[in-house]
Amino acid sequence: MRSAFSRLALVAVSTAALSCGHATASRTEPEMKTMPSEAAAATLPAAPAAADNPLLAEWSGPYGGVPAFDRMDLADLKPALEAAMAEQLDELEAVAANPAPPSFENTIVAMERSGRVLNRVSTYYYIWSSNLSSPEYREIQGEMAPKLAELGSKIVQNRRLFERVKAVYENPETARRSPAEQRLVRLVYDGFARDGATLDGAAKERYAAIDQRLAELQTRFANNVLADEEGYTLFLTEAQLGGLPESFRQAAGAAAAELGHAGSYAIFNTRSSMDPFLTYADDRGLRETVWRSYYSRGDNGDEHDNNAILAEILRLRDERVGLLGYDNYAQWRLEDRMAKTPEHALDLLEAVWPAALARVEQEVADMQAVADAEAETAGMAKITIRPWDYRYYAEKVRKAKYDLDSDEVKQYLQLDKLRQAMFFVAGELFGFRFTPVAAGSTSAGSVPVFHPDVEVFEVTDRDSGEHVGLWYLDAFARAGKRSGAWANTYRSHETFDGLETVLASNNSNFIQGAPGEPVLVSWDDAETFFHEFGHALHALSSNVAYPTLNGGVRDYTEFQSQLLERWLLTDQVIDRFLVHYRTGEPIPRELVAKIRRADTFNEGFRTTEYLASALMDMRYHTIDPTGLDPDAFERRTLTELGMPDEIPMRHRSPHFGHIFSSEGYAAGYYGYLWADVLTADAAEAFAEAPGGFYDKELAAKLVKYLFAPRNAVDPADAYRAFRGRDAKIDALMRDRGFPVPGE
Ligand SMILES: [Zn+2]
Repeated sequence: MRSAFSRLALVAVSTAALSCGHATASRTEPEMKTMPSEAAAATLPAAPAAADNPLLAEWSGPYGGVPAFDRMDLADLKPALEAAMAEQLDELEAVAANPAPPSFENTIVAMERSGRVLNRVSTYYYIWSSNLSSPEYREIQGEMAPKLAELGSKIVQNRRLFERVKAVYENPETARRSPAEQRLVRLVYDGFARDGATLDGAAKERYAAIDQRLAELQTRFANNVLADEEGYTLFLTEAQLGGLPESFRQAAGAAAAELGHAGSYAIFNTRSSMDPFLTYADDRGLRETVWRSYYSRGDNGDEHDNNAILAEILRLRDERVGLLGYDNYAQWRLEDRMAKTPEHALDLLEAVWPAALARVEQEVADMQAVADAEAETAGMAKITIRPWDYRYYAEKVRKAKYDLDSDEVKQYLQLDKLRQAMFFVAGELFGFRFTPVAAGSTSAGSVPVFHPDVEVFEVTDRDSGEHVGLWYLDAFARAGKRSGAWANTYRSHETFDGLETVLASNNSNFIQGAPGEPVLVSWDDAETFFHEFGHALHALSSNVAYPTLNGGVRDYTEFQSQLLERWLLTDQVIDRFLVHYRTGEPIPRELVAKIRRADTFNEGFRTTEYLASALMDMRYHTIDPTGLDPDAFERRTLTELGMPDEIPMRHRSPHFGHIFSSEGYAAGYYGYLWADVLTADAAEAFAEAPGGFYDKELAAKLVKYLFAPRNAVDPADAYRAFRGRDAKIDALMRDRGFPVPGE
């Protein structure tokens, strides 16, 4: 479901409940999931014995009630989900069937009040999905995920419900409500209208047929990529592994043994295998083989070829938004994003592009020099850097110019100290105090947890002592827990029906240390820890009245968490918390400078491969796709852009799952850079403030305009209120070591 109807979308799409999903290996992109496409049964019978199902029960206990994590039994999940979905449909049907004339109260507010039970059950569902997975759970998920997805469509197709929403939306009275309430009405209305609810007759039927066909095609697209990832595993001998680190060899050896090829080494056709292989493998011919397999996924002219599928996807998307009166898909997609129009997004991508290309030229020159020197030493013929050489020689340049000893950095990054640092920052900026509470048992006053590792903290206002919410931390890796790090909110702030306080959580996969020993973490993991905590603070600081206003805007919602990462390298945090685990000495400033320098390394490559994909995404979704030949279009577009020969797109069209396996990032891949621009620009405001990153006045604005309103205020207006102007790209360019245009 594509609607801005955030609470329904949250329930309907399993990944949407997680604020973000940073896999440790790839911090820039959340994991891709295939959208379920199967249609659900027409009606859901009420489950028997629903009354005593603990998953359906009101949350009881302290702090306004907390999830009964100690009473989770997988056997209750399916009946609970079915009962909760049926209840939400009943609640909305009651709103639709109300004989009274439609009003804000009896329609919009009544809808906001619906789905409480499903929200509660979904909390448990996602805990099983992310924190406590098992084959038994996945079987239930396989059956229920399509039904949850279908629920959103059923709601949007409720014609009488939409007519009432439309009546409130068009009622002149609505314009006299508060700005937040007007926005709420518009978000709810858009949730229907942008999803085809305004259509009648043949157009409505065509719309539904397109949706169904798109779901099929997108699933096939994803499956084809998967088939090509699984079908091109390369088995190597030990002699072919020259240059590869021991950890890689061990993993490749174990993987081969598992596939029945004991004694050889398996190189998978996936990013996590390809990337280190191309970085370290000395055998240039093998690098080329691995590179070609990877960048040909979905493009092999066989039964898994995706070119025809993606062309049809683009035609159908274009036709579908045409039914709603839009010129192209991107126009429809960006309307409710911060960027608002494809032109704004393209302006940004094109503004950064020339600097990225110029940097690639320098990077290639640096690498070519290394390669030439090597050839000379070895008495061999010189090579020209090709795409399968880029990572390999970049690594050599990195070692020579930017080498950062990750073990040395780790000694200053203790998990406990990092958590204290986050609490310190939250105190200084948000006025929050974190206090540990008894967790794990049901005895009076304690908070149930779903695993003994989980810690719980009460969040209070430092000045007033007022209760704000709870923060759950599930820090350590274990079997059944998904990889990476993520934030999740069990309950969001609202006041329209009485105060509901926030239950926020952070989840990561740190490796538990020996008893009494501090847990030391990598630089990337420390940044991610701060990042995810930013999502939790975003939830905890909400001051919105209605649940829907807690929703996120895709090109905006990562910005707050990215911004929080910047406090990790502030002097106050360095001096007090980034201290050596033995000596207690703060991390040396030279090491900090090295970390900062290493950050801009290979930025030409990273920015260019990303931008090429983002530009292609936006072009695909703004052109007339009639008669499109994707292969020719991709080549022509890259030539027009002046794409360097040494770099491929990060995701070539036939395997660009972000935009073709689902609509998640379709015409939305630009969003990563958009959020980066805001992050850099906002961070620069702090760097320039009289009190720096702890400037009281600016911190108050940060909370007031950028965190607390969530989606109650248009993000562009909110940002302008914070910064006094729109965001500029200058700070981003400086961050990446690129020249600032016009300077
Ligand atoms: Zn995130």
